[in-house]
Amino acid sequence: MRFITSCAILFFSFTLCAALLGCAGTETNAGNLPQPAATTANPVDDEDAQLKKPSGFDADRAFDHVRKQVEFGPRPSGSKANEQTRAYLQQQLQSYGLKVTVDEFVAHTPSPRYPTINMANVVGELPGTTDDVIIIASHFDTKLFDNLRFVGANDGGSSTACLLEIARVLGLKKNAADRKIPQTIWFAFFDGEEAVVNWFSNDHTYGSRHMVESLTAKGQKQKIKAMILLDMIGDRELAIPKEGQSSGWLVETIWNTGRKLGYEANFPLANHYVEDDHIEFLRAGIPACDLIDFNYGGPTNPYWHNDQDTADKLSPQSLKIVGDTILKSLPKISAQVH
Ligand SMILES: [Zn+2]
Repeated sequence: MRFITSCAILFFSFTLCAALLGCAGTETNAGNLPQPAATTANPVDDEDAQLKKPSGFDADRAFDHVRKQVEFGPRPSGSKANEQTRAYLQQQLQSYGLKVTVDEFVAHTPSPRYPTINMANVVGELPGTTDDVIIIASHFDTKLFDNLRFVGANDGGSSTACLLEIARVLGLKKNAADRKIPQTIWFAFFDGEEAVVNWFSNDHTYGSRHMVESLTAKGQKQKIKAMILLDMIGDRELAIPKEGQSSGWLVETIWNTGRKLGYEANFPLANHYVEDDHIEFLRAGIPACDLIDFNYGGPTNPYWHNDQDTADKLSPQSLKIVGDTILKSLPKISAQVH
């Protein structure tokens, strides 16, 4: 992912707006992004009762998934360790009773050394009572470095671990009515989020762009009602600002839920702007949001994309904060797109 400076935001907003909406650059993209179909409010007391029930998210189980990924070593797209990670994801998701699809594709990169790379997205599916889909996503690749050992405990590892545990918890409720989520849920693990050379042009988000392209080609993108992206959510000092390009109603639902759960410090109300796997979904008209803490280890993001991104910098509780919040937000998100 890439943090966008104010200058880049203007540029990005303009290009997104102009390229896709054919409108003048004076408009902001926020007003043009997809809105929910309808709003169904639950009574407040019922909501409070739901929030008080344990979510079932097990912090230690989730953290074991971080350790496992780190044990595989650096996991850049096309590597042996990346394939091992895919197999691990597949095996875990199947053990939760989910149907798993491994969607292999060839990515064309600007790297003279690696002009093509074999990549694959791994998707676990939990069927609902409708064909409408809510996607929860993470990337599982780590950035390729020649000169340092980058194991991506947080960047790649934490969100993948959290998503696996969310999938396990939801998979325990086979009946969509018990989940209070009639939609089908996809747990999407994207390959190739990281740039092979530099985060420029199309050298990033290969997996999420491939998924959106495939959905569009099959005429299926309308069935995706919401996409929730997790990335870098394991920092001990977890603080996830609102991502400014994300769909406002999704952000409000998730942040309100997290704060009601007592996680006010972890879900501050400040904004930041980050390019990540959610962007292609927004461009396709699909409501999407990104939960990312881009101050990993402090305001200067000191552990990001270097050999300091190791499991000792993370906390199992941070994974649980995000897991609880997503699990408690899903019925509310579901009600807004039903
Ligand atoms: Zn990264």
